[in-house]
Amino acid sequence: MGQIVFENVTKEFRDEKRGVVVAVNNASFTIEDKEFVAIVGPSGCGKTTSLRMIAGLERQTRGDIKIDGRIVNDLRPKDRDIAMVFQDYALYPHMTVYENMSFGLRNLKFPKAEIDEKVHEAARIMGIEQLLDRKPRELSGGQRQRVAVGRAIVRQPRVFLFDEPLSNLDAKLRIQMRVELAELHKRLQTTIVYVTHDQVEAMTLGERIIVMNDGIIQQIAPPDELYKRPRNMFVAGFIGAPTINTTTVKYDGKAIVSPDFTVEVPEALKGRLSSYVDREIVLGIRPEDIHDANITRLKGEEAMISPRVRVVEYLGSQKLAYFDLNGKPFTAQLPSSSRIEPNADWALAVDLAAALFFDAENGWSIVGN
Ligand code: ATP
Repeated sequence: MGQIVFENVTKEFRDEKRGVVVAVNNASFTIEDKEFVAIVGPSGCGKTTSLRMIAGLERQTRGDIKIDGRIVNDLRPKDRDIAMVFQDYALYPHMTVYENMSFGLRNLKFPKAEIDEKVHEAARIMGIEQLLDRKPRELSGGQRQRVAVGRAIVRQPRVFLFDEPLSNLDAKLRIQMRVELAELHKRLQTTIVYVTHDQVEAMTLGERIIVMNDGIIQQIAPPDELYKRPRNMFVAGFIGAPTINTTTVKYDGKAIVSPDFTVEVPEALKGRLSSYVDREIVLGIRPEDIHDANITRLKGEEAMISPRVRVVEYLGSQKLAYFDLNGKPFTAQLPSSSRIEPNADWALAVDLAAALFFDAENGWSIVGN
């Protein structure tokens, strides 16, 4: 079992220079048993503090934390049955891999034979059996990472907490370890809470993702829902690479009107925008929803634009074209078959059916009535 519940949890720090810092602000969520949940957000948004409160390394200022239905507010870290893997791995440098992995169980006075069995089983799962006699300094970054995870597995805890575990690895190794962690989760069937500032890591690993900003939970949803139905402009801008394009436009009841283009609004969209007639709204367009009009079969509902293309980047399977629209930088993600050229005006079609709309005043998504 490993269900984690936050009920109106707030954590304040008293900082000499900054006064009271609200690191986590009234957070409520349930992480189900065996779920893989990623907590993502920019630096300083409260991710690590949330994790440390689950582990019991930090005491919340207000609210309750429950594990498997039991309030754990006053339970010490070692009594919570949780294993945490940090960014810097925190391996003991003077101990061998075997000693590092067995340390926790030795402290808990497990019988030697049982420790030996558990360490070898964890080493086998992580593919590090041949490294058991080495010291951490004799290992590569990836191997150290595997040892750190192996050490956490040995204890068979009810919850694993990962705090940016891959950020010290190079890009290729990071992808490899990402795949391994996903497989590990399937195999262990244990709850994992995974903190990262990297939205790609969160999107690829998390069954659900908690997006935080400034101590406040912005949205909790599976990856595809976050991408397709972000609740506000922050989530829309944080999730997705290249970043979503946004521009402020006006809706006159029939058409979207802006300096660089005007387009009739399809009937299906009118209901959604009905309370925004003659008001400013923010139009959000993902780069892949802008098409090269020369090579795309159009539906007739697109906004046609012909911006001056500034730069084209060739990425093998696709091309990224950069241009300005309504005075804002825009990116289009086109197939590599597009012949788009820089320093030329190019006919592009913006797919309004895929557009996101936000209230220009408060940044909330306009989902209609
Ligand atoms: P990062 O990705 O940079 O690690 P984070 O999202 O994990 O950031 P936290 O480490 O949880 O953010 O910090 C949230 C806020 O709380 C920040 O403003 C941070 O400066 C503050 N904070 C965290 N720990 C303390 C502390 N011990 N004393 C004072 N302020 C703190």
